[in-house]
Amino acid sequence: MIKVYDAIIIGAGIAGLNAAALFPKDKKVLVICKENSWDCNTFYAQGGVAVPYDRDDIDVHIKDTMAAGAGLCDREAVEILCRDGRASIDDFINRGFLFDSDEERNLHYTKEAGHSRARILHAGGDATGRHMHHFLMKENSHLLLYNSVVTDLLIDNDICHGVRVHHKGIFRNYYAKTTIIASGGLGSIYKYHTNARTISGEMQGLALEKGCLLQDMEMMQFHPTVFIHNKGARKQLLTEALRGEGAWIIDDNKKRFLFEYDDRGAMSPRNIVSRSIFDWRKKTGLNTYLDLHNFDKDFFKKRFPTIYFNLKDLGFNLPEDNVPISPAFHYAMGGIKTDLNGKVPGFKNLYAIGEVASTRVHGANRLASNSLLEGFVFSKRAVCDIEKNSFNFKIKQFIEDEEVLIKEDDKELKNRLRELMWENAGIVREYNNLKKTLIEIDKMLKSDVGKLLRLRLKTSKSIVQSAINRRESLGAHYIIKEGDK
Ligand SMILES: Cc1cc2nc3c(=O)[nH]c(=O)nc-3n(C[C@H](O)[C@H](O)[C@H](O)COP(=O)(O)OP(=O)(O)OC[C@H]3O[C@@H](n4cnc5c(N)ncnc54)[C@H](O)[C@@H]3O)c2cc1C
Repeated sequence: MIKVYDAIIIGAGIAGLNAAALFPKDKKVLVICKENSWDCNTFYAQGGVAVPYDRDDIDVHIKDTMAAGAGLCDREAVEILCRDGRASIDDFINRGFLFDSDEERNLHYTKEAGHSRARILHAGGDATGRHMHHFLMKENSHLLLYNSVVTDLLIDNDICHGVRVHHKGIFRNYYAKTTIIASGGLGSIYKYHTNARTISGEMQGLALEKGCLLQDMEMMQFHPTVFIHNKGARKQLLTEALRGEGAWIIDDNKKRFLFEYDDRGAMSPRNIVSRSIFDWRKKTGLNTYLDLHNFDKDFFKKRFPTIYFNLKDLGFNLPEDNVPISPAFHYAMGGIKTDLNGKVPGFKNLYAIGEVASTRVHGANRLASNSLLEGFVFSKRAVCDIEKNSFNFKIKQFIEDEEVLIKEDDKELKNRLRELMWENAGIVREYNNLKKTLIEIDKMLKSDVGKLLRLRLKTSKSIVQSAINRRESLGAHYIIKEGDK
């Protein structure tokens, strides 16, 4: 007899672990993640989690989110995020989580670009994600399979019977009544990114192969303030909260050049700041920096300890030194299309939540710190939906195929893909370059590549194709038309 779980959750970030926590304890739930459990974007989140400050702030938070989303948000999704957000965060606090507060236990709210008031809660100063992840891991009572890569969804018609997993050189099928994809974004397909090394966009490609729809894949967010000169693929993010609390962006001549682009200067939305930095560097040949001189040293060290110590290791004395910055890929607004309960259309028991999903809650551009909130709110909705509408079917056994995951030339092609995506499907896109990139990706897809690279290529192709299809700039998607160069 094969073992059948009530639910399999792919991913141990905020979305996956919070979903696991919300299933009744008697349910058999299996959580699966690549490498170590902490190797996810949730762990690295710095700034905090946005949440309406009070009842009156709900409508303002909705307005700010819709404004950042540049007309592409689903209003209902945004209303759910902001209305249910407060309850989700209060529930998390009641479960025992401690956000930063003052001596009288008043929560400390900070402000980030695009928010019209201070409504970002944080923990451990700038270590919000690490604290949350640690808490969720301690809380988790379900089985967690780590160092394991999901390589297939066991789908027959419109039913998902579970997943195939590659663990320590062995393939094994795991079966479940419901499968939830919570595998995060796709940072590793870009040359410069802020994401955890496990976040490489294979699940989006796999979903596509299985007949799921990907939505808004041209909407990729680039964070404006990233130190990109450290070794390793994951680059060092300098949170938006720094600018919210007084940091400037300057060039070699100490000019606050962002005011040439927008009256809000460094407090403009991410896409505008990223594009302006990109343009200024290209136009003037000057370097760009984060200037932290407005901070008191002791305050800085206490408020932003992760950045203080990470940059100290790299030779910087903060807040005195200016830090060279560049934009880098940060967040995927686009992903697997779902309904407002995280259910994947066309399938009876397949869900997607968190960054991998697209409910259009972020539209064309995510408002800072709304994604941890999304993880809380939509994981809860998915679990409620699963519990309410239990779907019975006979599990079908699948052969344990052993498709080659990585082939000899993959590394070279993978790096070429990362370069291509950064150059041509990055901050500023040109129609002709996108078309050339599409041809090159198709060529790579026809060559003899391993399954993991094939899936990454499919995800990348979807980004490029969507960027080609959207001929006008919108939100994070900025495209130069033919002849406009
Ligand atoms: C540096 C940084 C700072 C950020 N700061 C903030 C912030 O301050 N506030 C905010 O709201 N958002 C922030 N974000 C964004 C936010 O952290 C993410 O959007 C969010 O944490 C995503 O959560 P998730 O659960 O969807 O995915 P993740 O936390 O990324 O987890 C994905 C999981 O899926 C697993 N996985 C992936 N593929 C497979 C596979 N094939 N098989 C098995 N497992 C797989 C991974 O191992 C991982 O466990 C930040 C992001 C980064 C990178």
